[in-house]
Amino acid sequence: MTNRTVDPRTEAAMLGSITAERWLGLAEELIQAGQPAAENPLDPDLPPGSEEGIAIVVAAKLKAMGFEVHLDAKRPGRPNVVGILAGETSPSLILNDHLDTYPAGDHSLWTETGGQPFTPTQKGDFLFARGTSDTRGNLACTLLAVQAILESGLRPIGTLKCVYTVDEEKNGPDGSIYLLDERGLTADYEITCEPTGWTRPDGSWGMSLALANSGHYLVELELVGMQSHLWRPDLAVNPVEDMTRLLSRIDSLKLSHTPPKMYGGTPPRATVLRIQGGAPREMQFTPGWCRAVVGLVGLVPGMTEESVLADVRAWIAECAKDDARLAAKVRGFPGALFVSGTMEQDPEAQPAKAIRNAYRTLLGEEPIRYRKNAFNDTIRFAERGIPAVTFGPGEDGWPPINEYIRIEKSVAGTKVLALAILDILGVRPA
Ligand SMILES: [Zn+2]
Repeated sequence: MTNRTVDPRTEAAMLGSITAERWLGLAEELIQAGQPAAENPLDPDLPPGSEEGIAIVVAAKLKAMGFEVHLDAKRPGRPNVVGILAGETSPSLILNDHLDTYPAGDHSLWTETGGQPFTPTQKGDFLFARGTSDTRGNLACTLLAVQAILESGLRPIGTLKCVYTVDEEKNGPDGSIYLLDERGLTADYEITCEPTGWTRPDGSWGMSLALANSGHYLVELELVGMQSHLWRPDLAVNPVEDMTRLLSRIDSLKLSHTPPKMYGGTPPRATVLRIQGGAPREMQFTPGWCRAVVGLVGLVPGMTEESVLADVRAWIAECAKDDARLAAKVRGFPGALFVSGTMEQDPEAQPAKAIRNAYRTLLGEEPIRYRKNAFNDTIRFAERGIPAVTFGPGEDGWPPINEYIRIEKSVAGTKVLALAILDILGVRPA
């Protein structure tokens, strides 16, 4: 059990040292570090990123704070950073974030940062750049929270492991999965600092506490047709035209499941991500094939790769009843991992309890509890039996272009983390 016997003056000084200025300095440095090499798309058919540049920066910061630091890579150029601050006794806590970011896309669309997605740009309480909300703004919170604790002379009694993973955007094979399954990483509790923040239309804001995550899967539909000269479409079986008819019925695709305690932001559903058909240099002819990638999102516990593929096949069969040319073949997209939804963590137990206590102390109310509708490494820890939650000031549902994070919220999130770490691990007074 924890023994939070921090002198109130020491605690107040520790919290007071967590300022917007310090958070901004750290966030701005991290956002630019090792980019754009750390861009890592979910697309299984595209090459992954290299997180080495930011890994070196983060490792140096942990070393400077007195952590024992290991760079642990499954593949060259992709080191995970594992920092350990050994305690005297149990429990142990993993504080986690990831080093990769989502690709920035078309730079010219980043109007808030002058066409430079990796140049952090402050406008009032907003900081714009790729990686602000997801997730280097949150990463800055984890480092600053630990720094504030140690600078104030407080020493956690339990062991703190700061774990910064690669490959999170591709669901973790070279990152969290590697560390947990091949490198023996474990702990009693885990907190992933990833976007659970929200802003209401009236400007009020807060951070929710994710007790579970939804799963997802990528499937590929394929139709093969019969080519003709473009002048004789009457002779063709055009699979692009057939695919558009099939996809226009995507909303009738029902994914069977048992209702969970909590749904994510959207219940289980399908959404079209990519459509390809018609080969370059063949405009003389109608296309011979068409493929579509469909994302299955909002998956809840109990849904499996087999169950969702069966649901997609049943939907196609139903569509093909009155339109035989819609009988598409379906398979998991090559290289895609099936990600299961996780079970809800107990809000009365650690680590959820510590976040709730700290949030109430600092913000005067309970954080909203929910199931987060996205992948986080939290899923990988929870799957292996470690009580794991997600909490962070990044905006859940951050915009793909002109991504931002709120500065005041980030400072508050850092303070919540600092108090939660002390609550979970216990503390030796200064
Ligand atoms: Zn993330």
